[in-house]
Amino acid sequence: MDCIFCKIAKGEIDSAKIWENEDVMAFLDASPDTKGHCLVVPKKHFEDIFDIDREILKKIIVAVQDISVKIKESLGALGVNIASNNKGISGQIVPHFHMHIIPRYEGDGLVMYGPRPEKIKKESLEDLRNIAAQIK
Ligand code: 5GP
Ligand code: ZN
Repeated sequence: MDCIFCKIAKGEIDSAKIWENEDVMAFLDASPDTKGHCLVVPKKHFEDIFDIDREILKKIIVAVQDISVKIKESLGALGVNIASNNKGISGQIVPHFHMHIIPRYEGDGLVMYGPRPEKIKKESLEDLRNIAAQIK
């Protein structure tokens, strides 16, 4: 399969690897939003949150925690954003499941989701409960 992250996981494409275990690997993003921006991926190919094996997913989120701690301590980040895009509509470019860890620094100027003036508007609890009922 012609998948960039599978090739990175197999070492067929070079990357700046920062962490790995049997099932999971993390490497720095080639176009970082901030210093230390990295991607945590399963070594086996899964496309997105909709098809990934649950046991592997658990290992990924635990790795995300461990790596976040390392980044905070080693790079002096004050915090991290953790994100995952799933399907094209969400901005997923590489169709191999991954979680972004984006270290945050004082004055880094990064706006994660763009300006969100609509945040001023609050949905009524009734409307929120209707949506909650649909999801449940
Ligand atoms: P997505 O939008 O799919 O969540 O993000 C994919 C991320 O992968 C982007 O931030 C992009 O910079 C990164 N990326 C794409 N190709 C490569 C690559 O070949 N090597 C590395 N290290 N990162 C990549
Ligand atoms: Zn893949």
